[in-house]
Amino acid sequence: MKEYRSFFCLMLLSAALCGGRAAAVERAEVPEKYKWNTADLYPDDAAWEKDKEAISARIPRLASYQGKPGLSGRDLFAAIDAKMSLLQALNRLQVYASMCSDGDTRVSRTWQMSQAATDLGTKTASATAYLEPEVIALGKEKIDAYIAAEPRLVPYTAWLARVLRYAPHTLGAAEEQVAAQAGLLTGAADNVYSAFTNSDMPYPYVRLSGGKEVRLDAQAYTLYRASSNRSDRKKVFRAFWAEYKRFETTLGTTLNSLVNAHIFNKNVHKFDSCLEAALFQANVPAAVYRRLIADVNENLPTLHRYIKLRARILGLKRIGYEDLYSPLVKEADLVYTPEKARELVLKAVAPLGAQYAADLKKSYDERWVDFMPSTGKQSGAYSTAVYGVHPYQLQNFTGSYEEVSTLAHESGHSMHSLLSSRNQPYVTSDYEIFVAEVASTLNEDLLLRYLLAQARDKAVADGGRVGAADPCQALGCGAGVDSGLWRRGRPVHGQAGRLS
Ligand SMILES: [Zn+2]
Repeated sequence: MKEYRSFFCLMLLSAALCGGRAAAVERAEVPEKYKWNTADLYPDDAAWEKDKEAISARIPRLASYQGKPGLSGRDLFAAIDAKMSLLQALNRLQVYASMCSDGDTRVSRTWQMSQAATDLGTKTASATAYLEPEVIALGKEKIDAYIAAEPRLVPYTAWLARVLRYAPHTLGAAEEQVAAQAGLLTGAADNVYSAFTNSDMPYPYVRLSGGKEVRLDAQAYTLYRASSNRSDRKKVFRAFWAEYKRFETTLGTTLNSLVNAHIFNKNVHKFDSCLEAALFQANVPAAVYRRLIADVNENLPTLHRYIKLRARILGLKRIGYEDLYSPLVKEADLVYTPEKARELVLKAVAPLGAQYAADLKKSYDERWVDFMPSTGKQSGAYSTAVYGVHPYQLQNFTGSYEEVSTLAHESGHSMHSLLSSRNQPYVTSDYEIFVAEVASTLNEDLLLRYLLAQARDKAVADGGRVGAADPCQALGCGAGVDSGLWRRGRPVHGQAGRLS
């Protein structure tokens, strides 16, 4: 069972940007006001180290609960609560370490911190591997009786029900302990990919039409692939993907290792397919996933129509992948500052109420967001949360409309986490991806609606001339059409993992 907190929406290479904006700089050059305030978690690394030692010392004590959950409701509560309170402490430790590492993935010290926190997670999972088999052995009737007798178990009702649901896929205590320890091996592919692409990959340099030479890392790629100069964006695409092609064997082997990790989990925990294993946590039937993919495929003609329209507006006989990110009209080639982006998102979420907007403003004012790209920074965007503290966002903001939209999106996740943290006990505060994307895409939609309404007002004021650029950018950029839904549905497992 997954017991770690979720990172939502790591949107790799997903932003579409236009030329002429600032390229990545070293993190030290980024003004503090655009960096997240990690001091809300720990004042410094020394405090983190101290907490790590304290957590490490708590792990062996978890073994003292083994064999006791069946004795009484009180004993069951004590065993679950010991595990959950440790996981909550570990969550803070892990998020701080990964945030420090994501700020500059080239720094080995913070990478080691992140790895140390992951190791403690594996040790905790291994030390508490007895718990689920012992809960399953109790059975529903006894558990219900324990909950009735011990009110402190009530918040754990949903967790207990999930453990029982996992019964067909749960092994004995000893086997679960081995499976938990294997987590260190099965997570290796992800770690290798992240370290290689964020830190070690020798990204190419290209000279653009204006004479400027740029290093094409992930952030620069998303920046320059949207150039309005076609030969520039072609050059950018060719150089960037040629570099990936050069490491095809390494990257392919890494991907294969990840697939093997999925197959290992499927086999060990007796799932029919990797797809079933992946969806089981969220309790989503495979048919729902397949229906989503089928719906996207059935609606591909709409995407194709959009691409034809884009080719016509751009005056291209044959449109290429490199033409999907450029602005469609000159007026849409806008550059937003982080301050303007914040202002637009705050205005757009007004329908969600004054408290929502005030909380979101606080998150911007108090630096819960790491805005700017810098060399070695984790690419893409995500939201993560620490229960009892507050959520954080990682962005790579260089000024495009889509990044304003990404801010709205991740802000949706962050606010979801904040509200969940405020209103739920720790054990039920996390949420699944199928629910998560409602809060985020709603905010994207609110932003678009707000800008369209502004454009209509402006058009009326201008005597009917629609010339406002914000919605042109929103509608004309097209990267949202390209990158979001339809590209994610492709299975990589083929027959071996039966993810299809
Ligand atoms: Zn998302």
